[in-house]
Amino acid sequence: MAGPSTEDAPVPRDTFGRQIDYLRISLIDHCNLRCVYCMPLEAPAAAPSSDILTATEIETVARAALGVGFRKLRLTGGEPTLRADLLEIVARLAALPGLRDLAMTTNGVRLPALAGPLAAAGLRRVNIHLDSLDPRRLERIMRRGTLAEIWAGIEAAEAAGLGPIKLNAVVARGFNEEDVVALAELTRTRPWHVRFIETMPLGTGAVATLARARLVPNAETRARIERALGELRPLPTVDHADESRNFRLPGARGVVGFISPVSEPYCAQCNRMRLTADGRFHLCLLNDEELDVRAALREGGGVPAVADILLRAVRRKPTGHRLDLGRSTERREMYQLGG
Ligand code: SAM
Repeated sequence: MAGPSTEDAPVPRDTFGRQIDYLRISLIDHCNLRCVYCMPLEAPAAAPSSDILTATEIETVARAALGVGFRKLRLTGGEPTLRADLLEIVARLAALPGLRDLAMTTNGVRLPALAGPLAAAGLRRVNIHLDSLDPRRLERIMRRGTLAEIWAGIEAAEAAGLGPIKLNAVVARGFNEEDVVALAELTRTRPWHVRFIETMPLGTGAVATLARARLVPNAETRARIERALGELRPLPTVDHADESRNFRLPGARGVVGFISPVSEPYCAQCNRMRLTADGRFHLCLLNDEELDVRAALREGGGVPAVADILLRAVRRKPTGHRLDLGRSTERREMYQLGG
């Protein structure tokens, strides 16, 4: 990985003074699992492949982002490991100047085959999605995946050195709220970060309705873990843009984290921009505003044109959402952000 240099551009700031240096790149819009709070069993048809950005187009966007001062890239989806040219994409991005971190969020199912090659191609870390250690309850919530498959993926990632391993557990009432104790207990013996995420009502329809109805506030999850396993001691904040509030169980090797977009929105610390698989900059996870970048790429615009669109997207980033107040869009005057 090329790493920072004295020539790195300064990190861009949005109109609220937030430093935006983190681009999440969706490589694909479909997934091999059907988590109840994320995708209906009958998922909409995947976008035609000609709509999805090519490896070269993704590299151009990443190069533009790093050129204007972004520092971190994360590959996500859909399920990024379903992308046939994943290793090529990772290798191309890992070689870009200015890159400080290259990570991926995955459900882990394909990692037994891919973790080693991904590490060799330059991927640094993975976050793996795992909602339960109980095989039946896991299959009820994540539907098409099995615990054995995901667990093998976690072990493969660890063996390949894609650490620190971070596990994402989305907690949904009636599905896995009791399972948080066993998941947190993993951190006693393993140096993993287990992070509990509140369900966000993403999109519309039955999946969003379920996410809203099944919300378990992280205060409840934390209390459940503490009752069973002892006091969670807060850890100092290392990265102010980290959306996770981090703790350690007595004597534990790993970290227990809470990501609470609903009960404690962290929009004031938001440092991210999202690129959709079909080439749009998405300004906020909970807001539909997007700027098209694919057209510019396909008209031959190249890095300068993409950089221009990206900086426009940064300037138009909204303050955030207020899911805590039941609103998914926020206007500037409603929410004053600090520096
Ligand atoms: N397929 C990959 C995976 O399962 O991790 C990457 C894409 S998935 C959309 C990224 C992460 O979003 C998942 O790890 C999960 O933790 C989180 N997630 C998905 N739907 C969510 C929801 N409705 N609310 C909160 N988090 C959600």
